[in-house]
Amino acid sequence: MSSTFAVIAGKLSASAIRIAGMGLATNLPGKISRKISPTVLASIASQSRRGVVAVSGTNGKSTTSGLVASILREAKLKIVHNRQGANLVTGITATLVDACAWSGQLDADYCLFEIDEAALPLVASEVKISTIAVTNLFRDQLDRFGELDTTAKLITKGIKATQSKAVLNADDPNVAQMVPDCDRLFYGVASVAPLTCEDEPAKASESEQDEIPEAGIAELSSCTACGAEYLYSLRFYGQLGHYRCSACGQTRPEPQVLAENVKVTAAKSTFTLVSPDGERADVELPLPGMFNVYNALCAAALCHSMGIPTRTIQQGLSSYSTLFGRSERILYRNKSILIQLIKNPAGASQAVRAAATDPNGRILIAINDNYADGRDVSWLWDAEFEQLAGCKGQFVVSGLRCHDMAIRLKYAGVAADNIIVEPSLEVAVDKATDLLGDGQTLWLLPTYTCLLDLQKILKSKGVTLSGT
Ligand SMILES: [Zn+2]
Repeated sequence: MSSTFAVIAGKLSASAIRIAGMGLATNLPGKISRKISPTVLASIASQSRRGVVAVSGTNGKSTTSGLVASILREAKLKIVHNRQGANLVTGITATLVDACAWSGQLDADYCLFEIDEAALPLVASEVKISTIAVTNLFRDQLDRFGELDTTAKLITKGIKATQSKAVLNADDPNVAQMVPDCDRLFYGVASVAPLTCEDEPAKASESEQDEIPEAGIAELSSCTACGAEYLYSLRFYGQLGHYRCSACGQTRPEPQVLAENVKVTAAKSTFTLVSPDGERADVELPLPGMFNVYNALCAAALCHSMGIPTRTIQQGLSSYSTLFGRSERILYRNKSILIQLIKNPAGASQAVRAAATDPNGRILIAINDNYADGRDVSWLWDAEFEQLAGCKGQFVVSGLRCHDMAIRLKYAGVAADNIIVEPSLEVAVDKATDLLGDGQTLWLLPTYTCLLDLQKILKSKGVTLSGT
């Protein structure tokens, strides 16, 4: 009974917030409902006909759960999904309150939750989650969580609390060694297609290009068991690759869901998806960057564990349309802009890599240091902006910390003459698009609150981003 009141109160507050134009009502209705009935989340979620699945990890949660949603829609399943990063317990509750009827009844096959690492133990203590997929574990900004170890423990606690099946990234040693006692399904990249001439990145010094992408950033690349250094036979980025501990023999588990012959270009990625039963499907993913291949593999593995056929997974991945600010392409003043949110060193390095390998790419980086961005911008020094050193064209930097970003680019080897500093994001976007030639794309890399500012600016000019 109290659940019904909780749902009604939540729904009323959500309507009030929307009517007052105070935003998308992503958290407060959840807070109110939970105050009235602390079990409201459990009582709604438990009604989903086939259960609850979740995605957690440092980077790629939104894109991965978006890809899962696309696959489940392809499978004609009805889902409830907390989109756009309302990934704390209040946001997840608000999503369910919004999705259920006034009576509190939920009509859905699955609940699909993107869950913040720190919120996972709490959500898992309230809701039975059948499968939890983990994308990767990178050091987030220093002022957000403590150690990587702490994050790994939070996720482990979540998986154990609800005795979920775990879908884990075999190529990330921080993830692959988790929950050895649980039921685990691994995904990983088996092989990368060699670069051909037409894909050659627009770098000044071609001799610097390796056939296999390799990032210099040494996130945690020492053994999680004994601390010795990992040896890599293949390394994709950060600590992700085919690793083996030089001392204790800890090794990458053999993935059951894998990507072969991965080819990444500025516009899309292609690979052969191999399922545990040996079925193969060629996937054309409309997203750039190796990091998105991992997101797609994570989504594919999660859906496989839910019994979705490989063909349906292939179609769902190919028909994916991007989320707000996640590799989202827009047309502005007849110019092409690709927006990729950056929020930590590993994610920024991957976005920069994708931009740097686009021969027709030009770059705008917008950095704020508001609370939601992280107040400490020292993380910029851990991201590999050095990849931009040989790139052509001018770089525009913007946001509250544009000057820090300009200094970072100078130290990364970008000539000072090629850096345009424009604090106003609105002016910066116009300047950067003015500089674009025919066939060129502006890679716009904003931190979170810059992305929100960008949304307002574009909306005022009649351009709509997804999720608005
Ligand atoms: Zn070891």
